[in-house]
Amino acid sequence: MSMNKRETALIIGAGPAGLTAAYELLERTKYKPIIFEMSNKTGGLCQTVRYKGNYLDIGGHRFFSKSQRVMDWWLKIMPIDYSNSKKSSAMLIRQRKSRIFFLSKFFDYPVKINIQTLKGLGLYRSLKIFFSFIKSHLFPIRIVNSLEDFFINRFGKELYRTFFKDYTEKVWGVPCTKIKADWGAQRIKSLTGFKTFTHSVRKFIFRTNDLYQKNTETSLIERFLYPKFGPGQFWDRVEFLIKKNEVKIIKNHKVIHLHSKKNLITAISVLDTKTGKETKINGKLFFSTMPVSELILAMGKKVPEDIKRIAFDLPYRNFITVGILVEKILIKDISSKSQFKKLIEDNWIYIQDPRVKCGRLQIFNNWSPFLVKDSSKVWLGAEYFCNDGDELWKTNNQKFSKLAIKELEMIGIIKESDVLDHMVLKVPKAYPSYFGTYNEFDKIIEFTNQFENLYLIGRNGMHKYNNSDHSMLTAMKAVDAIVNGDLSKKTIWDVNTESDYHEEKKND
Ligand SMILES: Cc1cc2nc3c(=O)[nH]c(=O)nc-3n(C[C@H](O)[C@H](O)[C@H](O)COP(=O)(O)OP(=O)(O)OC[C@H]3O[C@@H](n4cnc5c(N)ncnc54)[C@H](O)[C@@H]3O)c2cc1C
Repeated sequence: MSMNKRETALIIGAGPAGLTAAYELLERTKYKPIIFEMSNKTGGLCQTVRYKGNYLDIGGHRFFSKSQRVMDWWLKIMPIDYSNSKKSSAMLIRQRKSRIFFLSKFFDYPVKINIQTLKGLGLYRSLKIFFSFIKSHLFPIRIVNSLEDFFINRFGKELYRTFFKDYTEKVWGVPCTKIKADWGAQRIKSLTGFKTFTHSVRKFIFRTNDLYQKNTETSLIERFLYPKFGPGQFWDRVEFLIKKNEVKIIKNHKVIHLHSKKNLITAISVLDTKTGKETKINGKLFFSTMPVSELILAMGKKVPEDIKRIAFDLPYRNFITVGILVEKILIKDISSKSQFKKLIEDNWIYIQDPRVKCGRLQIFNNWSPFLVKDSSKVWLGAEYFCNDGDELWKTNNQKFSKLAIKELEMIGIIKESDVLDHMVLKVPKAYPSYFGTYNEFDKIIEFTNQFENLYLIGRNGMHKYNNSDHSMLTAMKAVDAIVNGDLSKKTIWDVNTESDYHEEKKND
C-alpha cells in the first residue's frame, strides 16, 4: 500500500484500541487518522465516571501486561510518581489484593492451599477438596468439552464448586457445562492447582521486585500500575496528545454504514447523534472497534446470509455497577486481628454466594485514594452481570441501588443506615461471550479478512475477551502490518492466544 501524506485512516471508536491505533499511525506512518466516537467521551470501557467528586472505574482496570511493549507505552504516556508528589497526572504502583467472600469469610484469590484456607473451610470440606483434587489429577477428564471440565481437571470438583462455579455462572449467565473450555484456557491459561501452590512458595523465598512479573501467571499478578484518577485519566491524556498533533476525534458520531468495492472498504457513513444528519466520508484505511455483530450489519447487503446469521447471534453480557458511598464497611476479616475494620485492603472481592445476584465488589479507595473525595468514607462498586432482556437490565436505577444495598447488607458487608449516596451505571456489551454462534466465528474472520484495508481490533471489535493491553496490542500489530506491507491479519488475530507466549520471548 502506498503512503500518501493526504490519505486518511478512519477509526471507529475512541476506546483504548482506537486511540492506540491513532497514536501509532501518527508516530509511524503518514496517514492522517480521524476517529469517530458515538458517545461524547473517549476511553470506551476504560473511561472513569465522575460522580460528585468521586471517580468510578467501570470494573476496576488493572494496568498490567506481560507485553513489555504495552508496559513501556503506558509509562511513556504517564510515568510513575515515585515521589508521591501532588502531580495530578501520574501512574501509581498498587498492590493487588482480591479475595473470595464465601460462607461470610475471606479466602485468598487465587486460591492458596494454606492453613488459613483450611481453617476457613473446616476439616470436612478441606478433606473433600483434598481428595477431589488428587482424584482430578490421577483420573483427569480425558475429553474436555466445557469450562466445568477444564476447572475440574485443574482444581478438582470440590474446589471448583466452592470457589469458581457461582461467580463464573453469574458473569456468563449460563452453567459452566455450557461454556466452551476456551474461555478458561484464555483467562486462566496454564494456572493449575499446583501452580498456585508453587507460586506461594516462590514468592516467599524470592520476594521479587520485578514490576513486569514476567514469570507470573496472569491471575497471580500482585502489583499493577494505576493512574491516580483511574483509567479514564490515562485515555484523556492520550486524547490530549493526539489532538495536539491534529488528530480529529469526532464525538457523538455513530458509524452506521461501511461502503465497499470488491475487496476494499471505500467509505463510511456516520450519523450525527445530536442532529440526525448523515455524512459519507471516504478513507484509505479503516479500523473497527465497534461490536462485530454491528459491524457486519453495517456492511449491508453484500454480506452473505450465513455471515449475517453468525454475527447476529453472537452473544454478549451486559454489566451494571452500583457506586455506593458508605460511612464504613463491616467485614469480619479472618486474616486480621480486629473484627470490625473500617477498611480492608482488598481492591476487589469475588462474592461467591448464591443468595445474592452481586458478583463482585470493588473498593475504590484501595485502587487509588484519589478516587474518593472524602478519604474518611468508603466508595464501593457492587457489580452485576446480565443479558439485554433480563429483569436486572430492565430494573430502574433507583430500584437497582436499593437491591445492591440490601444484598450487601444481607451478606454482612455494609449497614443500610451507613449509606450516604449511590448511583447506577449500566454498560451494554461489556463482555463478548464465547457461546451461541461463536464456534463459527472463523467464518467471520475469513470474511472480514478479505477486505484488505479493514482492520478489526480491540475487544468487541474482534469479539475476543481482550483486556486493554491486548486491545492495544491488536492496534499496534495492525499498524506493524501496515508499515511492513503485510496483508495478512494473522499477527493481529494471534494476540491473546497461545502464541502470546512466543511473542513474549521476543519481549513484545
Ligand atoms: C468489567 C470490566 C473489567 C475490566 N478490567 C480490566 C482490567 O483490569 N485490565 C485491563 O487491561 N482491561 C480490563 N477490561 C477490558 C478493557 O476495558 C477493554 O479491553 C478495552 O476497553 C477495550 O478497548 P476497545 O477500544 O477495544 O473497546 P471499548 O473500550 O469498548 O471502546 C469502543 C468504543 O467504540 C465506540 N463505538 C462503538 N460502536 C461505535 C460506532 N458504531 N460508531 C462510533 N463509535 C462506536 C464505543 O462508544 C466505545 O467508546 C475490563 C473490562 C470490563 C468490562
